[in-house]
Amino acid sequence: MFRIRRIFDDILPANTEALRQVSQILRDQFPALRASEVEKLPDLLKNPLKHRFKSILYVAENFKGLVKGFALLSFEPELRFCYLDYISTAKNITGGGIGGALYERLREESLLLDAIGIFFECLPDDPALCKDPVILKQNKARLKFYEKYGAFPIVGTAYETPVQEGDDNPPYLVFDPLDQPANLSRERARKIVRTILQNRYGDLCSPDYILKVVNSIQDDPVRLRSPRYLKSDVAGNPRRSFGSHHRKVALVVNDRHEIHHVREKGYVEAPVRIRSILKELERLSIFTTVPPKEYPEKHILAVHDAGYFHYLRRVCAALEAGKSVYPYVFPIRNATRPPKDLAVRAGYYCLDTFTPLNQNAYLAARRAVDCALTAADYLLAGNRLAYALVRPPGHHAEHRSFGGFCYFNNGAVAAQYLARYGRVAILDVDYHHGNGQQTIFYQRRDVLTLSIHGHPSFAYPYFSGFEDETGEGEGEGFNINIPLPESVDGEKYLKTLTRALKRIAFYAPDFLIVCLGLDTAKGDPTGTWTLHANDFSKAGQLIGQLRIPTVVVQEGGYRNRVLGVNCRHFFSGLWQGFYPVSKD
Ligand SMILES: [Zn+2]
Repeated sequence: MFRIRRIFDDILPANTEALRQVSQILRDQFPALRASEVEKLPDLLKNPLKHRFKSILYVAENFKGLVKGFALLSFEPELRFCYLDYISTAKNITGGGIGGALYERLREESLLLDAIGIFFECLPDDPALCKDPVILKQNKARLKFYEKYGAFPIVGTAYETPVQEGDDNPPYLVFDPLDQPANLSRERARKIVRTILQNRYGDLCSPDYILKVVNSIQDDPVRLRSPRYLKSDVAGNPRRSFGSHHRKVALVVNDRHEIHHVREKGYVEAPVRIRSILKELERLSIFTTVPPKEYPEKHILAVHDAGYFHYLRRVCAALEAGKSVYPYVFPIRNATRPPKDLAVRAGYYCLDTFTPLNQNAYLAARRAVDCALTAADYLLAGNRLAYALVRPPGHHAEHRSFGGFCYFNNGAVAAQYLARYGRVAILDVDYHHGNGQQTIFYQRRDVLTLSIHGHPSFAYPYFSGFEDETGEGEGEGFNINIPLPESVDGEKYLKTLTRALKRIAFYAPDFLIVCLGLDTAKGDPTGTWTLHANDFSKAGQLIGQLRIPTVVVQEGGYRNRVLGVNCRHFFSGLWQGFYPVSKD
């Protein structure tokens, strides 16, 4: 078993360790490589602009972090092409589908970058160019592998001219047009080949050599070799077609949300909310449904107090079906003496009097966390957008307390999970302040928390969400509250959001978590603002334009008649912002 993960930097321990293993694979599998080439890898990831190419590193690793293979791709943004620097398994590991899985991920990545295709070098399968029969056999296998994806050597050029006369095994330049028509003009091909030779092999190839190879490109468009190993109807048809998949938003729905149904009159956090949203999302074709996976409780314990976690599980399991317990005693003065009776103890862990405990609250909340983590894993695999459509919501749940319909902080658990792999920002756009993640990450700078909400002088939770709560210690400056007045329309809201997004862009996170409350809508029973469907669409678009891999986690929103419509508008905006129509 392995998973594919993108490595963004060399700062976090999980990434440092993966990079160390990648460097070892480079040394093992490419013995001719100079040490300086291996050592510059972290810098390539950190300073993409310095090197003209943007470097993208993927590893295939098992769940203990053992790297079984890796691939390094470079993207050149002016000519919009990708160059595959390396793809390799670790020593003594062969097959197992690692090479194929990595290569498929690179193709998806290239399409997301809107590249015209991937170029790379492959040693020749022509006995005249490769004298060693063992190497020749390997070369044939490799070219056959790439034929499956429609990648073929460019023919009719002098690319495979040995740099030193008499050198054996000069490489072909292979082009994978990513299932698009391979219509590569002579002019563009010349520019690309010059860029590759100058930037990648400038110290090996003389200017005369480069000029000779570039000028040898005469065909317009350039020609690719015909399939040699596979029938032409098989070549270019990889078994796992990804063309329809790579830009989809993973939709992870809490399939157990309905078991949590508080039937008291006025309890607006009801199962119908999810149904209203799903009904509208069906009208968009941008989603792919991903079933929630189960995760161990350690991920919840990474952000919630163990005493609180175990209490919630025990008290819920002990309740009769259909019975709700509302907290009614709040031992705020003596936290060292939790009340013995489980039902009485509710107030020891609760913020308010309207969030009840019942038999299924724990189970539904646990499943909601699984959904958020599944969505986070979808991002770690290199995808861009995921939506955990869950209830109960989570953003009011603090380290050791529940309230505001929330039990576990789904967004915070996902943020904590992703923070092992990169910087995370949480943007809370619910009408109510995201007090949960604020307190959980208050002293940290590796997770930025930002919330736009109704001012606590009139809006729940009343005790937090003030502008002067800016973080503490190391986290000073990494919590931002933007409280707004009672009456806010779309125009004012979008102005505020634009300002907030500038702050997030400045932080430059690797992952974004959006706590999506739709209770900012006109007519919401818990809010006072007047956002319309089009405002949600614009908000989504602004967020998408950041082009940061994003998990959206569902929070509030209680006017069921417009909830789904607003949600649909948000996602169509988000998607359009993220994937603007290409210019050519
Ligand atoms: Zn809310």
